[in-house]
Amino acid sequence: MHTDTDTLHFLDDEGDTGVVAGLVWRLLVIDDEPDVHRATTFALAGVKILGRPLQFLHAYSAAEATQLLRTESDVAVVLLDVVMEREDAGLALVKTIRQDLRLTELRIILRTGQPGYAPEIETIHDFDINDYKTKSELTRTKLYATVTAAVRAYEQIRKLDQLAFYDRLCSLPNRNKFIDLSDERLASEQCSNDVIGILDIDDFSEINDALGHQQGDRLLQAVADRLKLEFGNNVILARLGGDTFGLMGPLRVLDPVNVLDLFRTPFKVNDDSMVVTATMGLTQCLGAGIAGRDALKDANIALKLAKKNRRGGFVMFSSQMGADIRERVRLLQALRHAVECERLFVVYQPQVNLPSGKLVGVEALIRWRNEDGSFVSPERFIPLAEASGMIVAIGDWVLRMACHELVRLQALGLPDLRMSVNVSQIQFRHPEFLERLRLAVADTGINAKCLELEITESVAMEDPDFMLETLHKIRKMDISVAIDDFGTGYSSLSHLRQLPIDRLKIDRAFVTELNNAVMGGHIASMVIELGRNLNLTVIAEGIEEESQAQTLLRMGCHEGQGNLYAKPMVSPQLIEWIQARQSAA
Ligand code: C2E
Ligand code: MG
Ligand code: MG
Repeated sequence: MHTDTDTLHFLDDEGDTGVVAGLVWRLLVIDDEPDVHRATTFALAGVKILGRPLQFLHAYSAAEATQLLRTESDVAVVLLDVVMEREDAGLALVKTIRQDLRLTELRIILRTGQPGYAPEIETIHDFDINDYKTKSELTRTKLYATVTAAVRAYEQIRKLDQLAFYDRLCSLPNRNKFIDLSDERLASEQCSNDVIGILDIDDFSEINDALGHQQGDRLLQAVADRLKLEFGNNVILARLGGDTFGLMGPLRVLDPVNVLDLFRTPFKVNDDSMVVTATMGLTQCLGAGIAGRDALKDANIALKLAKKNRRGGFVMFSSQMGADIRERVRLLQALRHAVECERLFVVYQPQVNLPSGKLVGVEALIRWRNEDGSFVSPERFIPLAEASGMIVAIGDWVLRMACHELVRLQALGLPDLRMSVNVSQIQFRHPEFLERLRLAVADTGINAKCLELEITESVAMEDPDFMLETLHKIRKMDISVAIDDFGTGYSSLSHLRQLPIDRLKIDRAFVTELNNAVMGGHIASMVIELGRNLNLTVIAEGIEEESQAQTLLRMGCHEGQGNLYAKPMVSPQLIEWIQARQSAA
């Protein structure tokens, strides 16, 4: 093989000093005839293309060329002889260049002595051969023109690749490139002890907002520089997105404790020294057959968990996490299917006045029954419906079902019966929520006074201004509001006092607690006291025993709901239940 020192011809006027890759165009001549090499270098002696001189590399067989291309980088153009050690050695080399070496940017000019050896059109197309010439065609000027066109094309492709695969801000590969590089490394099977990690800077958007984007950019560069300095060429390093970096390398190098330790020293940004922390998600499951993209997904799952529970720390992906996610995905698909097949229905649970035992209202509760008759609890699928946005349509449907049901129930001689409908936070914040509410009332013709919305305590306490405004609009529509699961959140009393609400609903847990000798229902009695002081009705949910009802009554609780009175029922069953009570009275 011919190395730089013996046969590379530097055509720079000032000799070979100062010529570094990047400031020259590297051109590889592959031909088994030394004459062709001499003629080529002679023909192109001293020329500059796009302001840069040419640098020649030489190979005399396909095998030698393969070796050379493995080690040399930035080769822009290959002048390739078709017939060398074998008749098709040149064409086989093209395949090697594109498929094995994955050199997609370099331009290939095929040269053949005999026109009869022309490659098939498909070959030219499939392997991205950029030009095809017989040697006799290539006069000096034509050769120059051909090489110039190839160099221009190479430069354009490289620029496009730069845009597509590199992050300019941090001078790092981007997400796409990271996936390519990790795929390559995974395929090389030298990665059995590797990890893939995603590093995310904590509170980066706050830093950006507080100090400006320029400072944010500088911080990202400082972090990138530190990572580059620390890991150099030992790991694949990339900027995956806004404030996340991807890393792939041996676990002993990328030990997350050590990586996160890099954040102990402040970052120098302009004249400031900034202290930031980062969180990491990693995956070690890099067995055969895993693609970089999938590994990155796993690392991202771990990162999300770390962000949630272990900020400033790290989480290593486990197959259990994958199983949980797959289960959620499966459940979500099943939910979509259930909605389409109308497998969701609504049940109603009576609410009674505690002192008189009279029915005052019902709460609409959604149910999902599988084909095999088993139920999926709303506690499992409502959060999924919320996360996927499906809750907006589902909630709207429940609301309408409930309004229709209210009309039926009131016709049984219960004109004041109340219908309570649970409204999830996503639904409540939807820009069309109030309009949908108005339409549901108008379309079903119910008396709005008899409709009540249940929102949980945590929702009620979030974003006070928005809550206050929306609740006032709801009150204007004559619809009432209950705070569900009260006692489980962190209410601000001053905020609670301002809210135009009608009812507090003591969470089931505090009703259950009434049986507990030690706790003895402190919270239940506090909530009742609070409600009475604020002039709100208090209702207790989850009453299962008569003794609980008696205690609550003694504490001054107004209303109750629970299995003691009735379980949630489908409409016909509820109507029967109501009629049985009416005839008993
Ligand atoms: P929630 O609004 O607090 O509803 C009360 C839950 O307590 C219901 O559970 C009800 O079946 C259950 N329950 C009632 N009495 C008793 C009792 O005596 N003992 C026990 N152990 N449990 C009792 P469910 O139906 O499983 O609903 C769970 C949660 O799912 C609801 O809590 C509510 O937050 C949500 N949910 C149900 N339906 C809807 C809906 O249509 N929309 C929305 N956004 N959420 C809903
Ligand atoms: Mg409720
Ligand atoms: Mg509740």
